[in-house]
Amino acid sequence: MALSNRQLFLQHVAQTSPAPIGLEIVKAQGIHMWDANGKAYVDLISGFSVMNIGHGNERVKEAIHQQVDDYMHLMVYGEIIETPQVQYAKRLSELLPPSLNCVYFTNSGAEATEGAMKLAKRVTNRSQIIAFNNAYHGSTQGALSIMGGEYWRQAYRPLLPDVLHLDFNTQEAIDSITEATACVVAEVIQAEAGAQPAEQAWLQALREKCTATGTLLVFDEIQTGFGRTGTMWAFEQYGVVPDILLLGKALGGGLPLGAFIASHKHMQQLTHQPVLGHISTFAGHPVCCAAGRAALEELQKLVTANHLLPAVAEKEALIRQCLQHPAIRNIHGRGLLLAVEFESADLCQRICHAAVQAGLVTDWFLFAPHCLRVAPPLIITEQELEAACALLTQTISAVVATQAASS
Ligand code: PLP
Repeated sequence: MALSNRQLFLQHVAQTSPAPIGLEIVKAQGIHMWDANGKAYVDLISGFSVMNIGHGNERVKEAIHQQVDDYMHLMVYGEIIETPQVQYAKRLSELLPPSLNCVYFTNSGAEATEGAMKLAKRVTNRSQIIAFNNAYHGSTQGALSIMGGEYWRQAYRPLLPDVLHLDFNTQEAIDSITEATACVVAEVIQAEAGAQPAEQAWLQALREKCTATGTLLVFDEIQTGFGRTGTMWAFEQYGVVPDILLLGKALGGGLPLGAFIASHKHMQQLTHQPVLGHISTFAGHPVCCAAGRAALEELQKLVTANHLLPAVAEKEALIRQCLQHPAIRNIHGRGLLLAVEFESADLCQRICHAAVQAGLVTDWFLFAPHCLRVAPPLIITEQELEAACALLTQTISAVVATQAASS
């Protein structure tokens, strides 16, 4: 008998966990996904903060089709003038402070992290990198070296030397930055820690110490960018500008794309000694850039037409109001990057599993397995949010009741 797609998935597609969600989705549109049996699911996590404007946006699909018709791959990164790349880089620069005016497009968020660390070494001629506990910046070996958790790093040593892991929001971190530090890599809101925001005064002090020591400040907005936390970039809420900005996820409008963005002057370092300081065949793929640019235009249209960004804050308030249950200990985060905290990782996993069965796709956080992720597409309506929160609350009650009955 022929194997089912689920069996083939488990056998022939490399697995990264003993218990993948394992849904077979055949269609996605707006905030919804449908499985092979026609059952609908609300995407409560936007494909991990990627589909900020929802699935299946018509303009994004048109841009992809147009670019596929024009051309796909031409040459390795940086040799030929590819209009989608140029136009998208210009558009991003217009939305960023003047010092962030030069974009290196990559294939992924992790590659953006790699590029930023290399650039910081070249600009400063130093090697030390400071990063934070409970931070995630990607899974390649350089990015893994600065990942904030020994559990994740220990099996892959030796990793990059000269990395200091410090606690987020602490004075010790500020004091540890010296003239030997090439860069500090930080998220403005630590996503995988369970959506933990930086403190305003701390982020400012971080900036000041980096400036005083000639250290480059790198902000990883791969998960927080493109309106997720209620402003286009989370750093806008702090008035603190990094030297290098990392983008990814929603950057490609659903296609794979990352970027590290710095000043033109800094970026020049990648052109000499050695020439080709960072090389990548598919980085900044024209189809991905066309899709990303269209997605950004759509996001901006929604911002002006529907006041999308202030609405993100209103939707956060609505979730906080609707998601009330004795089993919920707290809700962390900002905008539509929220972490609903439970007493234990075990309870949270049971709720995640039951939520998927009930038609809500959600997940937990790498460093906060006791927290459930609520990060739907920004276009979700208030009615849809209320319905999703009601279903989640019922699911929590059912799981808690089952647990009480079995203990
Ligand atoms: N940085 C942050 C904050 C992330 O959340 C992620 C992915 O989850 C990455 C970097 C890595 O991005 P990618 O999975 O595209 O390599």
